Amino acid sequence: TPSSPELVCSVSVSFDRCKITAVTCTCGNKDIFYCAHVVALSLYRVRKPEQVKLHLPISETLFQMSRDQLQKFVQYLISVHHTEVLPTAQKLADEILSQNSEINQVHGTGAPDPTAGASVDDENCWHLDEEQVQEQVKLFLSQGGYHGSGKQLNLLFSKVREMLKMRDSNGARMLTLITEQFMADPRLALWRQQGTTMTDKYRQLWDELGGALWMCIVLNPHCKPEQKLSWLRQLRRWNSVDVCPWEDGNHVNELPNLTHSLPQGAHGNQDCSSVVSRADLQRMPVQRLLGDGESYMALAVETALIGLGQQRVMPDGLYAQEKVCRNEEQLLAKLQEVELDDSLVKIFRKQAVFLLEAGPYSGLGEIVHRESVPMHTFARYLFTSLLPHDAELAYKIALRAMR
Ligand SMILES: [Zn+2]
Repeated sequence: TPSSPELVCSVSVSFDRCKITAVTCTCGNKDIFYCAHVVALSLYRVRKPEQVKLHLPISETLFQMSRDQLQKFVQYLISVHHTEVLPTAQKLADEILSQNSEINQVHGTGAPDPTAGASVDDENCWHLDEEQVQEQVKLFLSQGGYHGSGKQLNLLFSKVREMLKMRDSNGARMLTLITEQFMADPRLALWRQQGTTMTDKYRQLWDELGGALWMCIVLNPHCKPEQKLSWLRQLRRWNSVDVCPWEDGNHVNELPNLTHSLPQGAHGNQDCSSVVSRADLQRMPVQRLLGDGESYMALAVETALIGLGQQRVMPDGLYAQEKVCRNEEQLLAKLQEVELDDSLVKIFRKQAVFLLEAGPYSGLGEIVHRESVPMHTFARYLFTSLLPHDAELAYKIALRAMR
C-alpha cells in the first residue's frame, strides 16, 4: 500500500512437470494459500517466460567449476549470509574433514540437490503447506463456528472439492489433514462424556467432511486400487476411535431405547427375521451371491423397502430431522424411477405383509412410539405401488398408516 514502506521479498518457486512443487517467500505470511508475491512471480513467469532465466540444477553448475572457482563460490556464499550460514558451514566442514562422519559414507560428490527436482518416477504434486492446513483447521475448530470460522472451514472444503475436480492428488491429502484435526477436536470427547448431541452447525461440517467429500474420494473411478486400500485402512482407523461421531451425529439415540419402551405386541421381534438392526448391517459381508432369479436391482429395492419401513427414533435437532426427511425423499425418488415387474411386485407384497405383521421394529406395525419417524410418505408410496397389483393389501397399508 502507498502508506507502508516498500517491502522487498525474496521469492522462490520450484516446479516440476507443470506443477508448482515448492514455494518460499521471505514476507512471512502464513496461510494455506500462496502469498501475493508467489502469485505475482508465478504470473510473471507464465506471461514472460523468456524474461526468467532457466538455471541448471546447482549440482551441474558446481560440476563445471574449477577448484579456485569453487573456493570463491563458497566464500562469497558464506559472506553474503554469514550470520545464518556460518554455523551450518562450520558443522559441514568438520564433518567433511572427519573420516567417519555420516556424509563421508556417500562416496565421491554425492550430495542432496534441492534444485534438481524429483526423478521421473517420483510422484509430483502441487505444493501444499501441511502444517498450515493443520494449524488453520485447529484454529477454526477452536472458535466453535463463531467469528466466521464455520465459513472458513467451508472455504477449505470447497478448496478440496476444487482439487478433486482437477484430479489433484492434494485433494485427498488435504482432506486427510482436515479430518485428523476434526478427530482431535476436544469437544468430541466432551459431548460423548456428557451424552449431548453436537450442534447443528458442527454436524453440517461433519456431513460435508464424511458424507460428501470422503465419498467423492473413495468412489473416484480414476483412483488406483492400492490408494483405495490405504484409504479404507485410514477410514477404519478413524472409525475405531471411540469418540468418532456416528453418521447421525450422536451416540444418544440407539434403537434399544425404543424397543424397551414398547410393549411386545402379538408378534414379537423374533418374527421379523428379515429386519436387521444397524449393528447387524455393519457386520454383514459386503459380497453376497445372488440367489435364483435375483438381481442386484431387486436386492436394492428390497433393501430400500426394509430400511424405509423400519421404526426408528426421530433424531434431536432440526438439522438432523430435516436430514432424515431429505434422505427419505431422495430414496423414494430413486425408487419411483424403477418400473415394477412381477418379481418386484412379489418383493413389495412380501415386505408389506412383513411390515403389517412385524413387531416393534416395523414402522407400520401395530404399535408405534410417538417419537418415531413418520411413515406417511413411505406409506403413500407403498399404497400407490401396490394398488394396481393387490388393492386389498394396498388399502390395509393405507389404513394402518392413517390410524
Ligand atoms: Zn510473500
